[in-house]
Amino acid sequence: MQIFTLIDKAMLAQESREAYYSRTPRVWPSEASAELFDKREAGIAGGCHRKSYFRMTGEPPSNQIDIVAARRFRTGRAMELDIVNLARAAGIFVAAGVRYHVADIDLPLELDLVVRDPQTARMYIIENKTTYGYAANKEVIKDGHPRLEGVMQSTIYLNEFSTGEILKEIIHESCRRKQAARDEMQVWDHDQASWQFQKAKKEFERNRIEVDFDAMELCSDGPVGVKMTYETRDDCQTREFEIGLLGDELDGLHYPMIDGIPQKLFTVESVYERFRALQGYHSRNIGFVRRELARAGTLEPGKGLGQDGKDRTGFEQSRADMSYWDLVFQNVRALPSNFWPPAEYEWKYSAEKIQTLGEAGIIGKTKYRNWQKRAKGKTHLGAWQCAHCPFKTKCVSVEYPEMRHQVADLMLDDGNIEPLATRLREIAAAHADAVDLAQEVLKEAEYFATNAERMRYPEFREKGLFVGSGVVEAGCKSVIGSRLKRSGMFWTVRGANAIIALRCCRINGRFEDYWEQDRVA
Ligand code: SF4
Repeated sequence: MQIFTLIDKAMLAQESREAYYSRTPRVWPSEASAELFDKREAGIAGGCHRKSYFRMTGEPPSNQIDIVAARRFRTGRAMELDIVNLARAAGIFVAAGVRYHVADIDLPLELDLVVRDPQTARMYIIENKTTYGYAANKEVIKDGHPRLEGVMQSTIYLNEFSTGEILKEIIHESCRRKQAARDEMQVWDHDQASWQFQKAKKEFERNRIEVDFDAMELCSDGPVGVKMTYETRDDCQTREFEIGLLGDELDGLHYPMIDGIPQKLFTVESVYERFRALQGYHSRNIGFVRRELARAGTLEPGKGLGQDGKDRTGFEQSRADMSYWDLVFQNVRALPSNFWPPAEYEWKYSAEKIQTLGEAGIIGKTKYRNWQKRAKGKTHLGAWQCAHCPFKTKCVSVEYPEMRHQVADLMLDDGNIEPLATRLREIAAAHADAVDLAQEVLKEAEYFATNAERMRYPEFREKGLFVGSGVVEAGCKSVIGSRLKRSGMFWTVRGANAIIALRCCRINGRFEDYWEQDRVA
């Protein structure tokens, strides 16, 4: 038994992303982003709108997490959870898993850890992160730059829970919601298959709140602090930053502060505005599709009659709703690229941009030097956000149609043949004005669609089969070509077939079997 083969399979199954659409424009804290004053790299920091939009509309990810990334992710998560136990042991723990919903922008928040400063009784929200690798560790630990994504998240916390009084009320509310879910489960305990029981159970399990009420009583009602803490996974260094908010009286905007120093990198208002802008794409496109469906005669099923002519049961109603919304989102995902939010990062930087970013020190020195050493412009360098994006094949194939072959390779490796054919058709549609290119791309799409069953590469690899044409081509040359293509040779098909059959028998070590078979026959 190979223990890691079994464990890795289980880990990948747990960490793989399921595509599901969200009817409401719900966003995640990790998708926070802001407009930067420094426009040199992408003009924004944090989540890409297009990526979040694809997630919200249930776009199937074109690349799944690999085993190394899954293991890294879990190690980081385990360390982030461990700090909660350590805070308990240190006697500063107040609460963990506090849930809150920012209704204005449909943003669910969960505070991993709240602690009490033993000297001042001030409440601190702890946002613990882990890093690894020389460049990341140097940036955070030595150079003292917390990741902007985390800073944005911290400013949201400060904006929502500015005082201990507010935070305590949020903690109590989170506890009340957990209790309400528990009560609801008890009410429906007689029918555990009912949607009411299942909904309450989900809410109960999701709400991981834990509170030390005695410790909370001792906390001050005054201003709350936010600490971003970092631990490096490889060389076990730590660093912490205190995040604050500065309200500028001149422009009326709010800026982040890191360790008491105002950082005019972005405004907190921009974080909220960008969430709203992203939600606008989701709502507008759904509205558009629903109007189109209504025009074609498909309406959202209201309360109505079931097949037997009686009022629909709850189950029938939810089935009817589900098939309507499945159709809506199928159509939303099929909308052409001019309906999507813009691609906010570049998968491939231009040579000029690499030069500018390299000289400004925005691209790491080693990366820049390597790029300079190789043929300039020929090495692919782009934003890391795109490299890790689960929707890169869909996005990149539209943004860079000339690179469709690289995209095709990525999708073929993942065995996504049908999505690849769909993507190619989308590229063709998006470039319908360039007739030759569109036709060529369409031809490729049809090729992949027709030969899909021959290209299930991950499936073949899993069965231990060889994938690739090199060996077959080499075999053809040495078995067939070297015997039939000697100088001066001419063959009839019958003669060539006969001699090659014999040659194959000999090379396969089955020469005697052949004669044996012949004798039996
Ligand atoms: S590939 Fe890059 S630009 Fe496109 S959606 Fe992903 S992160 Fe955004």
